[in-house]
Amino acid sequence: MSIRNCLVGLLSSAVFLSLPGCFSAGKQDSPTPVLVFGIDGATWKMLEPMIAAGELPNLARHYERGVRGVLRSRAPAISPVSWTTIFTGRLPSEHGIESWKTSQSSHRRVKALWNMATDAGRTTNVFNVPSTWPPEAVSGVMLSGFPLSGSHVGGNTGVVLSSSDLDNREISYVYRDNAVAIRTAMEGLTIGSWSEWFDVALKNRNGWTGRMKLRRLDEDSYYASPFYRTDDGIEISYPTALRNAVKEELGQDYIPEGPGWSKHAEPETPEYLLEHLVEVSRLQTGAAAMLADADWDLLVYVNTLVDRVSHPYWAYMRPQDYEGLDAAKAAKYRDAVRDAYLETDRQLGEILAGIDGDYYFVVASDHGFQSGRNKSQYIGTHEFDGVYIVSGPGLSGKDGPLMNIEDICPTVLYLMGLPFADDLAGKVPEEIVATLGHRPDRIASYETVERESSDLPVDEATWDQLRGLGYVDGAPPRRGQD
Ligand SMILES: [Zn+2]
Repeated sequence: MSIRNCLVGLLSSAVFLSLPGCFSAGKQDSPTPVLVFGIDGATWKMLEPMIAAGELPNLARHYERGVRGVLRSRAPAISPVSWTTIFTGRLPSEHGIESWKTSQSSHRRVKALWNMATDAGRTTNVFNVPSTWPPEAVSGVMLSGFPLSGSHVGGNTGVVLSSSDLDNREISYVYRDNAVAIRTAMEGLTIGSWSEWFDVALKNRNGWTGRMKLRRLDEDSYYASPFYRTDDGIEISYPTALRNAVKEELGQDYIPEGPGWSKHAEPETPEYLLEHLVEVSRLQTGAAAMLADADWDLLVYVNTLVDRVSHPYWAYMRPQDYEGLDAAKAAKYRDAVRDAYLETDRQLGEILAGIDGDYYFVVASDHGFQSGRNKSQYIGTHEFDGVYIVSGPGLSGKDGPLMNIEDICPTVLYLMGLPFADDLAGKVPEEIVATLGHRPDRIASYETVERESSDLPVDEATWDQLRGLGYVDGAPPRRGQD
């Protein structure tokens, strides 16, 4: 246990109280911990050739020693629904997260893995899992994943502007309000480079402050990132003080969700989007890596970089699948999706470097990726076949059976030595049970009391974020009707 990971001097006493593992004597008597590394949108079409070429050393290590195969998603194969199926072992009609309209933790009607683990007295840390906002009390810590109400102001994509646009009434108030700070950041910025993060605020919203970043694209053309809110008014962590501890550790405010890809068709977008997405995902992984060498029984982290990059850049990698795509542009951005996989593997290495001793390792993706059916719209789209790898003590490298997304939750419970519940829709693959040589205990259910949940659709700020991300269109759903 390192001092750094107890965050001595960084965390408030509230957080210390919730991190009893920091003060325990060690884990020699504890069951083998389980790390679940989610890769939103990962497909074997990318992973297998890259692993074979030796380009993904961290994933390769577990691929070679683990049971691996296709993890089949279910309709609708969208992140909040599928990740909730993955982490509850229930189908959407039972867990309650059935569409973008009902995609927050408050809509979930059943326990997720971290609730089951917490109830069983196991320390569990959860980072960036879709549909975990608002954050929930767990035995360890939680940083919520998207959709997050109010974490960005004025959409979630940023804008391309010139210095004179800052006086223009048509530009969003988010940028007009911060014209002075933006002009200062523009000064001395060379073409192709990024500014430092700088402070921003809103005039008509008392206390709404945040961070922003610029990239100079051309002579007088700049990309301005979204307004990432960082004031205390947005709650993204459990316990609340965790966010400040993360900020201290990273030397930078934590950004829970990067810019979206809804502006993928605008000519400048590919020029800045990948770099900014990578930078934000490094903050997210930095937070997850922070407690890797602490005592925990279950560490769950979903990395969303591959998904966020595959939507806007997939077509450049597969121009033959699209009509009329500019060949020079395709050549320029051809490697962006590969770069997202390389970066994800590198980030995984950061987390693995912090872990001592044996552990089970589970990789899962909520869906795969393919070329879009609409050949004139240059985006990648989801497909059902995602990926899984299960490795760790007693397991060895081989192709495993087809798994369904709801099988991950019971499999992780089994690896943790926790019982299977008869009301779960998923199952533990027989091959894994046979290899490890003991059957899971069984209970009727993990549900003890009815979980309070909401049927109201997500609020306007959340819808705004989802629209900016590129996942929904149109006006927010009316509350009180479907
Ligand atoms: Zn996606």
